[in-house]
Amino acid sequence: MGFLENYGNAVNATNLIDDSTHSRCAPLGASGWASRNDLTLGALLARMLVADGTAHDVFESGARNFMEALRTWKPMVEEKARARKWVSEKMPWDIANAKLIYDRVSESSLAYFLDPRCGPCGGAGQDSDRRSCPHCKGTGIADLLMATREREWALDMVSELQEIVRSYTVRAKEKMREE
Ligand SMILES: [Zn+2]
Repeated sequence: MGFLENYGNAVNATNLIDDSTHSRCAPLGASGWASRNDLTLGALLARMLVADGTAHDVFESGARNFMEALRTWKPMVEEKARARKWVSEKMPWDIANAKLIYDRVSESSLAYFLDPRCGPCGGAGQDSDRRSCPHCKGTGIADLLMATREREWALDMVSELQEIVRSYTVRAKEKMREE
């Protein structure tokens, strides 16, 4: 069983402090450790990817999680954008424009990272008559519809989010082995 599945069981356990369910509690302890600094977002995203809005609604609402993740993610995107010199921020109008771009890229990259499925076919890649979905050409993955440059930046940020979750998961697993 992978870390994410373990984590899913832990958040679903009805009694997290019961000694008999100690093994199921371990992943929560591990993520508590990993939640510092840059791992905060990784922990939240890992939780959101597991929860996926299904049986876990009781635990937390998806929309609230999204807003919480976005609050952490936005300043990280701004920092990366400046380091990578996406746009000029010399003049007041540049700054206002840059802010709008950072907001759009933060929101789209986070939403796409969490759910890249094609809307019309729901990710199945085919319609109800089992014909290849014309919107995603049968891949089940939606295209990120944005202006060219912003689309590139957003996809770059999607890779960053994948890396954040990957390194969070690796470190949380290491922590679980230590305990
Ligand atoms: Zn489709």
